Amino acid sequence: MRLVFLGPPGAGKGTQAKRLVEALGVIHVSTGDMLRAAVKAGTEMGVAAKRHMDAGGLVPDDVVVGIVADRLREDDAQAGVLLDGFPRTIPQAEALDAILDGDGTPLDTVVLLEVPDELIVERITGRRTDPETGAIYHLTFDPPPEAVADRLVQRDDDTEPKVRTRLAAYHAQTAPLVPYYAAQGKLSRVNGVGPMDGVTERLLAALKG
Ligand code: AMP
Repeated sequence: MRLVFLGPPGAGKGTQAKRLVEALGVIHVSTGDMLRAAVKAGTEMGVAAKRHMDAGGLVPDDVVVGIVADRLREDDAQAGVLLDGFPRTIPQAEALDAILDGDGTPLDTVVLLEVPDELIVERITGRRTDPETGAIYHLTFDPPPEAVADRLVQRDDDTEPKVRTRLAAYHAQTAPLVPYYAAQGKLSRVNGVGPMDGVTERLLAALKG
């Protein structure tokens, strides 16, 4: 199964992807996570990508397409993948179609996780990550247990001005993927507002349908 999670930053794609991969028997491929790992490792690509990420803009298409193409060639990706945060532009979507069609494993479904802009800023600015486990919490909506609260960190790009820039990038560059995949008959829309368990249930129902 080859799936894409589409939606604005802060829609819950990463959180929901982590919950779903086991049930679906696929691996979670997040370009944001892979780019942050490259930044942390201080690779040449990471250093170049950080400039774009810190500014709230997108990393160039050829860089992210290269990362994803390499990841899709690995053994554990053969059973299926859930792509989270990729593609984010039409050229990325065209490159993905070319890779998957070339491998004889075309994209099955694209799920658009819909959350209105006004909720996004509130969600992202309260988001915190546990650097030890990778678990994601929200200070108000999903408060962390006391034992881990002190070690949580905020992503560098989760501040309000950067969220607004990232939302603008989403509307300008990523939203055109909605009609792109609708025209292929692959788009499902899922309401991303409300308690997380409810969103997970709606996602599973959409994917089974
Ligand atoms: P995310 O964790 O998906 O919100 O991604 C964090 C940041 O990484 C984004 O704001 C971009 O700067 C960069 N990024 C992640 N995925 C992509 C992509 N597919 N294309 C371009 N930039 C990306």
